[in-house]
Amino acid sequence: MTVIKTTTSSVNQSALEKGIPGSASSAPGVVADGAADRPVWLSVKRGWKQACPACARGRMYTSYLKVNDACPSCKEELHHQRADDAPPYFTISIVAHIIVFGILLSEQHLAPPVWLQLAIWLPLTAALCLWFLPRVKGALIGYQWANRMHGFGDGAFEGADIAPADPLPVTTP
Ligand SMILES: [Zn+2]
Repeated sequence: MTVIKTTTSSVNQSALEKGIPGSASSAPGVVADGAADRPVWLSVKRGWKQACPACARGRMYTSYLKVNDACPSCKEELHHQRADDAPPYFTISIVAHIIVFGILLSEQHLAPPVWLQLAIWLPLTAALCLWFLPRVKGALIGYQWANRMHGFGDGAFEGADIAPADPLPVTTP
């Protein structure tokens, strides 16, 4: 019987060195590669202000929602970001609560005609969505950066939030 040597141990060793979630870490607050923790709320706040989560000096976006490949000030790479549809999801949730609260309040106390309600709430909904969207997206990117998700970790590979599957040992009769 011949056993083909697998790379399981080297993959796990590599994961340990890169501080991949789920792998052993030397101490709380310190990732395996020795880099210091990134402050989550500070990074979220900087992202909300549409600034680089690392230095707060560079702009996060090149246009309305287009994220810079790298911070123009500190050169921190930001192209890893994968906010996907989370920013619209959270934006809709926030704006819906504001608008519905406003509609209910105005209906209860003022009972304005429908045309006036539509003239107020529809444009306000659009304006609030456009105002919140880049801020919510920035905050989410700041959160991902602080937690070293999606390649934001030092030396982490693309898709580092998913630990590499251990290859099964291959045996031949
Ligand atoms: Zn920066």
